[in-house]
Amino acid sequence: MPMAGAVNPDSVSTGTRAMFFMITPNESSFQKVEDVPQYVQQATPFFVGLMVLELVVGFLKTGAPVISLSDGLTSVSAGMISRIPLLFMRGCELTAYMFVWDRYRLLELPWDSAWTWWIAFLGVDFCFYWVHRLAHEVSFIWAAHQVHHSSEYYNLTTALRQSLTQQFTSWIFYLPMALIVPPAVFAVHIQLNLLYQFWIHTELIKNLGPLEWVFNTPTHHKVHHGRNSYCIDKNYGGILIIWDRLFGTFAAEKEKVVFGLVSPINTFDILYVQLHYYLYLGRRSTTFKTISDKCLTFINGPSWKPGKPRLGDHLDNPKVTGQEVPHDPSWSLPLQMYVIIHFLLALGTYQDCLKTRWPRAAVLEMLRCVVIVTMQRYGYMKPLLPTLAVTTQAFVSLSLLYWALQSFSKMFSSRKKTD
Ligand SMILES: [Zn+2]
Ligand SMILES: [Zn+2]
Repeated sequence: MPMAGAVNPDSVSTGTRAMFFMITPNESSFQKVEDVPQYVQQATPFFVGLMVLELVVGFLKTGAPVISLSDGLTSVSAGMISRIPLLFMRGCELTAYMFVWDRYRLLELPWDSAWTWWIAFLGVDFCFYWVHRLAHEVSFIWAAHQVHHSSEYYNLTTALRQSLTQQFTSWIFYLPMALIVPPAVFAVHIQLNLLYQFWIHTELIKNLGPLEWVFNTPTHHKVHHGRNSYCIDKNYGGILIIWDRLFGTFAAEKEKVVFGLVSPINTFDILYVQLHYYLYLGRRSTTFKTISDKCLTFINGPSWKPGKPRLGDHLDNPKVTGQEVPHDPSWSLPLQMYVIIHFLLALGTYQDCLKTRWPRAAVLEMLRCVVIVTMQRYGYMKPLLPTLAVTTQAFVSLSLLYWALQSFSKMFSSRKKTD
């Protein structure tokens, strides 16, 4: 997609400020959706830079790495997987938004007014609060969102641990805005809102004084990621914490926060991380006799049981002692080096192919994946660790699917242009 606009999207200053929502209406107002920079896609170097910084500062402060390799790579992979649907569609949120705007808008706020920009800022953040709250209170949406909470660590990589399927339900919550706010303004804010939420995933930043009253901060969001009973279903805010204070879902940090799901999944299998809760819900619904209980399994909260209130009783969850140790099986240093190098190569290709060497590189990468899948399938290639067999196969198959969809979407869009 061409990226025209007043902002030089590659500028380090704009990129850095975009990560913290320190960007003015003047430099981020656009008339057409096509002109809106792809802020999230362009943020990859900043994600990597800040993660390295966190690793270094964390090491200097605590004397130990604050990011675990297995967990960190699983999180970053989830981030990459979650963006696969964007290859062949504009993104559910924006597509549905534009549909409603085109047909049902009540009035058109001017795209170049600072007022519209601020209304969109508040509107997106307010809607995000409800998207997020429902993602915790309705089991079938939680099945998607639990991916983000499945890490037992809390660092910048956790921010990237995103769900592949959540966008298929979240779009509906933003539609009221489409009655008055132009899509190009919405397209800016939906991205900047997500980007802001990156830096708050760290334990290295402590109390930020008066900012804690208004903004969602590392301390507030840390509580949101806790599995202690006082943390469950609290602090849903995106940029502002005022929504939680208003709607009674705010909790301040008390005793030590233990991170992750109430029942940890103890695996780094990227497909399992994304999909396990759907399977669990399906199995769970079959254990109930009545149709209504079977349906309520998907609609009520994850802790719900028959005879209990909609969100269940959080005291039924496993008790947190503060002594919990995150799942982090040891593996040899050479194997770690091997995985890091290959992961960086894959990440480089992921970025590079999208930007410059399209489509030849994608076709070559697709061929490479076909060769690996075939060799593994017929036993000519064994994974280094038997336990990694399923993960490796799944990852390569997913990559293949990714490049095939990329090729298809590029072919389709270039044909459309020449028509
Ligand atoms: Zn959440
Ligand atoms: Zn989070």
